[in-house]
Amino acid sequence: MKKIKETITFIQDIYKTKDFIPLHAPTFRGNEKKYLQETIDTTFVSSVGAYVDLFEKKIALISKTKKAVAVVNGTAGIQVALRLVGVKEGDEVITQALTFVATANAISYNGASPIFLDVDLDTMGLSSNAVSTFLDEFGDLREDGCYNKKTGKKISACLPMHTFGFPVHLDELKKICDYWNIPIIEDAAESLGSEYKSKPTGSFGELGVFSFNGNKIVTCGGGGAIVTNNENLGIKGKYLTTTAKVPHAYEFFHDELGYNFRMPNLNAALACAQLEQLDIFIQNKRKLALEYQSFFAKSELKFRTETPNTKANYWLMCIELENLQERDLFLAETNNSNVMTRPIWQLMFRLPMYTHCQRDEQLNAQYLEERIVNIPSSVR
Ligand SMILES: *Cc1c(COP(=O)(O)O)cnc(C)c1O
Repeated sequence: MKKIKETITFIQDIYKTKDFIPLHAPTFRGNEKKYLQETIDTTFVSSVGAYVDLFEKKIALISKTKKAVAVVNGTAGIQVALRLVGVKEGDEVITQALTFVATANAISYNGASPIFLDVDLDTMGLSSNAVSTFLDEFGDLREDGCYNKKTGKKISACLPMHTFGFPVHLDELKKICDYWNIPIIEDAAESLGSEYKSKPTGSFGELGVFSFNGNKIVTCGGGGAIVTNNENLGIKGKYLTTTAKVPHAYEFFHDELGYNFRMPNLNAALACAQLEQLDIFIQNKRKLALEYQSFFAKSELKFRTETPNTKANYWLMCIELENLQERDLFLAETNNSNVMTRPIWQLMFRLPMYTHCQRDEQLNAQYLEERIVNIPSSVR
């Protein structure tokens, strides 16, 4: 198809190559080597060190929260954040089916089950309307929280995900969750630097979680961070992720089941160097988004842009095809031409571990599942 051919040429032009163009490659142009070298020279490569502390300070500043806890990856961060708000074995957690598997897995690691509710068409993230409709039908508000009339189980958290860096409608979602006494944990793994009404994503929920995996906007190889404005939860989070050891100069005593979810200082060094460039990365990507936007405005393909009152980090950019056939054709032609593109995730309830979970109709999620394709989004 002509418009697909033109798209391939356009992407090859903006990345100035006919070789393979990945979806998202990391960029190391700052102090990465310097900080890594320093870390090796000091021998503090492991789970304590100055860069871990500096990383936590930087993340708290960037996310405008009181406390950040560095962890080994985003998935572990979400797992612990859920536990911190009291998610227990046998509980349920509301989330979206249109997400990366880590969101649902983090719920399961706590022995809880996801309830999959629909997303909004504009943000591709958890829909406050879907949550409201579900709770009006199934919610049972008791003194100690919200229960599910169908299963009798406690709904102990709501876990929205800011898809590709586009913030969900947080005010609306917060209002509903406050009414039903359900704490929000933001899966902000993809949205470091994104804002909703001029405030950073990750700072709206009881806790928020970022990822620094290799494909994210800022990477340290692997890593994550839990952020919160509730200092006690932050302190508890640090404690749980560092084996729940009671502080003592030389005695080992652990007073509950903790985890070794620490981020090594080596990774934190890389993260600190990357975070110094976050603003530049976001500017660079927002400029690319504008170029895509004006190109796609001329072709008949729909480029996805940020919604009103938000600022997206444009981590992974995407277009919306007309239907499944056109999507598959687009995927085949672009990938055959060495331009990497990828469909959005298959919905969680299609995965064998999650087929049994309670869910709503998922009309928007299924619409997007058939049409959304990510296009190369690396910093140039
Ligand atoms: C990347 C990601 C995570 C966490 O990933 P890690 O690789 O464990 O750091 C969680 N949720 C979503 C939606 C993600 O994209």
